[in-house]
Amino acid sequence: MSESDEKGQSAGGSSAAGAAGAADEQVKVLDSSFFFLDIPIAGTKFAVPPSVVAEMKDLRSKSKLDAMLEDGRLFVSEASPSTRKRVVAASKKSGDYGVISDTDCDVVALALEIGGIVVTDDFALSNTAQTLGLTVIPVQMRRAKKRQWKYRCTGCLKFCDAPGVCDVCGSEIIRIK
Ligand SMILES: [Zn+2]
Repeated sequence: MSESDEKGQSAGGSSAAGAAGAADEQVKVLDSSFFFLDIPIAGTKFAVPPSVVAEMKDLRSKSKLDAMLEDGRLFVSEASPSTRKRVVAASKKSGDYGVISDTDCDVVALALEIGGIVVTDDFALSNTAQTLGLTVIPVQMRRAKKRQWKYRCTGCLKFCDAPGVCDVCGSEIIRIK
């Protein structure tokens, strides 16, 4: 892995588009599965609904969650009942009602309420979130494949380990060849 060409290259001419929302990092709302997997995630702002906290019953996932709470990167918040109703309505529209769990609904509702990004690998959850216009990113990177994907920030052009939002400039990180 080379980390040689990070910032150095960042095109001196900085495009006009890059200026947008540099300071804002969107909150990533995590589903339960994130805490069961040993996968790092970029960012400094994360949120979960109380129902996700309640699902952390084994020591490993619970201590992962506690560590993130302690270092201040993660907060617990619950969406209002009316937002939750919107999510249930959306799941009916998308055909995911009955498949999507209550906790999953809470995750989507919280993301909707705080304008966050949903982090999940669950199809029904992802589908419902996208019906509501939310951005969804997967928990698992495709590291199992032989091909090693690279990620790069569209703003400052820094090379990154994962898609999402750049922790330097706040722009979107995309996959490159
Ligand atoms: Zn950046």
